[in-house]
Amino acid sequence: MIITKDAVVVGAGASGLFAAAEAGRRGRDVIVLERTATFGNKIRVSGGGRCNFTNLHVTADNYISQNPRFCLSALSSFTPHDFIQIAESYGVSYYEKEHGQLFCKGSSGQIIAMVRQLCEDNNVRIIYNAKIHDISKRGDVFVIVTDSGIYHSVSLCIATGGISYPQLGATPFGYRVAAQFGLNVIPTRPALVPLVFSAEDSTNFAGLAGISIEAAVSCNKKYFQGGVLFTRRGLSGPPILQVSSYWRPGDSISIDLFAGAAAYEFLQSRRRHKAALSAILSEAFPKNFARTWCEVYSYVRPVNQFNEKELREIAARLHNWQIFPEKTEGYKRAEAVTGGVDAGELSSKTMEAKKVRRLYFTGEVIDVTGQLGGYNLHWAWASGSACGRHM
Ligand SMILES: Cc1cc2nc3c(=O)[nH]c(=O)nc-3n(C[C@H](O)[C@H](O)[C@H](O)COP(=O)(O)OP(=O)(O)OC[C@H]3O[C@@H](n4cnc5c(N)ncnc54)[C@H](O)[C@@H]3O)c2cc1C
Repeated sequence: MIITKDAVVVGAGASGLFAAAEAGRRGRDVIVLERTATFGNKIRVSGGGRCNFTNLHVTADNYISQNPRFCLSALSSFTPHDFIQIAESYGVSYYEKEHGQLFCKGSSGQIIAMVRQLCEDNNVRIIYNAKIHDISKRGDVFVIVTDSGIYHSVSLCIATGGISYPQLGATPFGYRVAAQFGLNVIPTRPALVPLVFSAEDSTNFAGLAGISIEAAVSCNKKYFQGGVLFTRRGLSGPPILQVSSYWRPGDSISIDLFAGAAAYEFLQSRRRHKAALSAILSEAFPKNFARTWCEVYSYVRPVNQFNEKELREIAARLHNWQIFPEKTEGYKRAEAVTGGVDAGELSSKTMEAKKVRRLYFTGEVIDVTGQLGGYNLHWAWASGSACGRHM
C-alpha cells in the first residue's frame, strides 16, 4: 500500500510534533511515525514530572555545539514568549521556579495534553509502533518503507532525539539516516548526567549518599552553583549535571564549598576554639559531611591546634575541592547528549540539509545541547517550529 503525504515526520517527541503541527497549520498533509506506543515520552518524565518546558532567559550561550551560532536563528524566530502564548491558549498553568525556568503548575501531562490538542487541531496523525525498514529518495520523493505501508513524501523530517534514556524509545536512527545521506555526525557523549567517583573517592564518600550541600562547581571554565547531591556511586544535583556536559574523562571538577564566602576568615574567627575542626565546619555543612571530609584529609585535631599555614591550606581546599570522577553514569541516566547531526550540514533557518533537498533534522538529534533549565525543550520547540514553517 502506497500512502502519499506532503511531509513525513519520524519521531513523536517535542520537536517532531511541533514541526508536524506547524506544517499542518500551513495546510500540509503530515503524518508522524513513532516507534513506541505513545508520544512525548521524554516530555512526560521531564522536570521531575513537572516539565521545565522553557526558560525566559534563553540565549545561544545556553547551548553546546561545535557550531555555537547555529541555534541563533531558530531561537530568535521562536522565543519563550511564543511558546508561552501557545501554552496559555491551551490552558497550561505554570510558574517560574528560579532563574527563568518555567514549570507546569500541575504535571507534565498539561504539556502532553497541549501537544496532543495542537496536533489534532492541525490534522496531524500519529502512527504508533511504526517500524521503518528503509528510507530512500527517488527524484524529489522520499520513500519510507514501514510495517504499515510505504509512504511517499516530498518532505522528510527526522526528529528521533538523542540517544539518552533508551528506555524511553531513544535510538541512533537519526544519526544513521544522516550518515546514509552523506551528512557528518559528531560523536555523541552523555550530558546532564551524574558523575561516578573513582574507587578511592567511592570508599571515602559513598557513606554520604543522600546528603546535599550548596556549592559552586566548575569544570573546563564553566561554573555553576546549587545543591551538590551525594549518591551511592558519585555526585549529582544541578551543578554537577551542568558541568558533566563539559567534563571529559581525565578532567577534574573543582567544588567551592564556601562559594560567596571567605573560608579563611571563617576559620580565623574560630581559631582559638577547642572543638574539632569537623564540629566547626558543621556550622556550614551537614555533620556527616564535615566529619567525613575532615577524616579523609586528616584534619582531625581541635581547631586551636592548626597553625596558620595549615588553616590557609584547609581554606584553599574548601574553596577548591578537587574531584577526579572516573566516568559518567552513561546514556541510561543522561538527560541529554552532546554531539549529533553536524549543525554545519543544516540551514539554521529551516533545519533543511544543505546537501539533500527537503530532508530536515530537528531537536536533540542535531548537535545542539542545552544546559539544564528548560533549554533542551525550548530547542526542540524552536527547531521544530523552524522546520514546520518550511517543510
Ligand atoms: C529524564 C529527563 C528529564 C528531562 N527534563 C527536561 C526538562 O525538564 N527540561 C528540558 O528542557 N529538557 C529536559 N529533558 C531533555 C528533553 O526532554 C529532550 O531534549 C527533548 O525531549 C528532545 O526532544 P526531541 O523531540 O528532539 O526528541 P525526543 O523527545 O527524544 O523524541 C524522539 C522520538 O523519536 C522516537 N524514535 C526514536 N527512534 C525512532 C525510530 N527509529 N522510528 C520512529 N520513532 C523513533 C522516540 O521514541 C521519541 O518518541 C529531559 C530529558 C530526560 C531524559
